[in-house]
Formats: sequence, C-alpha cells, structure tokens
Amino acid sequence: MDIKVFKDKCTGCKLCQKVCFYDAVDIKDKMAYINENCILCGACIEVCKFDAIEIKEQAPDMDFTDHRGIMVYLETHDGRVLDSGFELLSEANKLKKDLDTPLYALVVGNICQDEAKKAFRYGADWVYAAMHAVFENHFDDIYSKVLVKTIKKVKPDIFLGAATPFGRTLIPKVAAILKTGLTADCTGLAIDSQSKLLKQTRPTFGGNVLATIVCKKTRPQMATVRPHVMEKIEIDAPKQGQFKEIKIQPGHYGTQYKMTGTDKKQEESINLSDYEVIVAGGRGLGEGKNFSMLKELSEVLGAGLGASRAAVDSGWISYPHQVGQTGKTVNPKIYIACGISGAIQHLAGMQTSDIIVAINKDAAAPIFKVANYGIVGDVFEVVPKLIERIKSGKPLIE
Ligand SMILES: Cc1cc2nc3c(=O)[nH]c(=O)nc-3n(C[C@H](O)[C@H](O)[C@H](O)COP(=O)(O)OP(=O)(O)OC[C@H]3O[C@@H](n4cnc5c(N)ncnc54)[C@H](O)[C@@H]3O)c2cc1C
Repeated sequence: MDIKVFKDKCTGCKLCQKVCFYDAVDIKDKMAYINENCILCGACIEVCKFDAIEIKEQAPDMDFTDHRGIMVYLETHDGRVLDSGFELLSEANKLKKDLDTPLYALVVGNICQDEAKKAFRYGADWVYAAMHAVFENHFDDIYSKVLVKTIKKVKPDIFLGAATPFGRTLIPKVAAILKTGLTADCTGLAIDSQSKLLKQTRPTFGGNVLATIVCKKTRPQMATVRPHVMEKIEIDAPKQGQFKEIKIQPGHYGTQYKMTGTDKKQEESINLSDYEVIVAGGRGLGEGKNFSMLKELSEVLGAGLGASRAAVDSGWISYPHQVGQTGKTVNPKIYIACGISGAIQHLAGMQTSDIIVAINKDAAAPIFKVANYGIVGDVFEVVPKLIERIKSGKPLIE
C-alpha cells in the first residue's frame, strides 16, 4: 500500500494532522506531508473534506523472502529488563537453530545501555534498544510506535513477546497495526521441519485441547508466551553481538493518555517453599475479600498462603502466592486446598505435598483424587469451624 497527498486538493487545513494517532502528518506551506511514522490506518482519509489523500492498495505480497530472523521484545520496568523477556529469548535461541537465522532483541524503556546489553547473555545476535524517558509511564501507544517502526525496518520473520499484563495490551495492538496474526498465551513454540513455519501451541476450550496454530499469509508470525512457562538459560560464554540504539525524537512519540497520578503497589515477597503448611484458595472463594478468612486460618496454623491461578488472575491475591505450572512448585507437609477444583496445572505445583486436604462443595472435583483427606462442603461453613476448633486447642478429630 502507498499513501499520496494531492497537491491540487490539499489546503493544509490540519484536520488530518489532528486525527493522526501516529504523528505521521507534517504541515508545511499549507500542504500536508506524510512522514515515515505513517502506518496506513486511513484515519486522515476519513477526515479529509477535500478528498486530498489516497491509499493505493496493492495485491497482497506472499513472498516473504525479505523477512528474516526472530525478534523478541524485552519488557522493562523500573530500569530493568523483566525475566519473562530473557525466558523468551532463551527459547528463541533454541528455535533459531532450526531456521539458521539471526536473533534480535528489542529492548524498550527508560533504561541504560548496560541493562539492554544483558540480552546478549541469552543468545541475542543483535540488540535494538530504544532508551528514553518517553517510555517511563508505559503508555502502550508510545511503545507501539517504536515496535511497529522497528519491525517494519528489520522485517523479522517471527516476533515474540511475553504475555505480561502490559504485553497483553501492547502486542495485540502492534499485530493489528501490522495487519498480521497473533497467537496469544502460547505454552509451546516449535519450527515445522518442512514448511519452516512457527508452530504456536496454546491451550483452548478451557485448557482441554492444545491447539497448534500457524500464520501462513502475513508477516511477522507473532506470538505471546506466558511468563515462567519457558526456561531462562544464560549462555556460559556469550559472544558480543551488534548493538543498535534506536534514536528517539520525543516530538514523534506523543500519547493519547494523560497521567493523573500513580499508585504503586508494593510487590509482596513471599517464599511459599519456606512453609511446612500451606493454605491455598481458589475461585470457590467467590471474591477477593474472602481471602481474609483463609489468611486467618493460615495465621492460626502458622501456614503460608497459596492460591490458584484463577484467584490470582481475578486480582484477589498477588502472583507470588500462585501455586502450579506457571506459579510456584511446593511440597509442604500439609497442603489445604480451599475452593480449588484441582486442574492439572494446579496439581503440577502441589501434588508432591505429604498430606493434601481438600475442601470443595463438589464431590466430583478432581482435587479429591489426589487428596488424603477430603471435606465435601462449603468453604464458608467449613473454614470458620476449622479456625474456631484450632483456636480452642481441642484436637481436630476426636
Ligand atoms: C498454561 C496454563 C498454565 C496454568 N498454570 C496454572 C497454575 O500455575 N496454577 C493454577 O492454579 N492454575 C493454572 N492454570 C489454570 C488451571 O487450568 C485452572 O483454570 C485453575 O487452576 C482453576 O482454578 P480454581 O481451581 O481456583 O478454579 P475453578 O476451576 O473454577 O474451581 C473452583 C472450585 O471451587 C469449588 N467451589 C465453588 N464454590 C465453593 C464453595 N463455596 N465452597 C467450596 N468449594 C467451592 C468448585 O466446586 C470448584 O471445584 C493454568 C492454565 C494453563 C492453560
């Protein structure tokens, strides 16, 4: 596609400049000029009263030979690259061997060069770094501009990002701007030996089926991967690759958002593996405030507080409490699961506990298959009685 402004029709009225989300219109001498930020979204055409702008559609190009390499987006917070990015880079380092292709890291944030260069330790051949204060507030529209620009310039065949809360906002936006496909929340990535396409595997239908998805008709092939699913592998003797700083002109990185204030949550540091007893809550608790009941039980038992991913994803309790495949693996002496169904991914993190106690109102819940002691009942009746009994000092079973 190509965009054109007709000199004889344009009046330089600035309407197109006002609607452009990407700062892609410059007005000079009463005439609009489209700059390299343009992503051909067409917003300027819709608003133009003089039919002065046109996009010429070209037949879709199915020749992707100019796309090469795997690019991994590394998210940063408070001046540091998140581990989720290094995990993905480590996985991409394995994939690149099947493609014989370069591995690019794209680091964006208000960070320093040394931090960005850590990507070399996880296999990056090239590090592209956009380091500037404009990225401080994590406005996804600012980030999408630099991601889209770099992808268009470098033309990677594959683009990967972590499915963090920010990644889940940003990466679909980038895929939509580039008009390519995206497989979100993958748990497995591989290269098809014949077609050399990226096989993107993710659970579907509530986790009962694993679907493998390929992207044949557009580039890059894009996927996000949940943090902690892949292993972070630091290379013993990393080679020094190429470092490219992406120059940022703040004027080209405007935002539609307005910062009204920040409320920084203190990240809890809890090491569940330190506890001999763990009391864990799941979706059966109904809402976040009901965790106070489990907190009381954990306090009377001197236990750690765990949770299922459903409870963490609902925002009822923070991620360090999550037990399971994508959370912590624990093996305490006693694990008390309250309102947790016992999905395979949860069991993966706790089934080696010495004694498992399950409280669930559904007698057919899978958690009872691994439980040594099962209480079929409502957590809101059973847990307060347990607390009362423990506080009374009487034995639990007479
Ligand atoms: C790749 C991947 C990784 C995952 N990783 C993890 C992980 O690390 N950890 C994890 O936990 N999950 C993980 N999951 C999610 C997992 O598949 C389940 O969705 C999740 O464990 C369900 O949490 P839950 O048991 O709290 O909720 P649900 O499955 O909804 O179960 C709630 C249970 O509460 C019971 N209940 C409801 N009300 C009451 C009541 N009043 N009293 C008593 N019982 C009640 C219900 O009978 C039900 O059994 C992962 C999934 C995927 C796809």
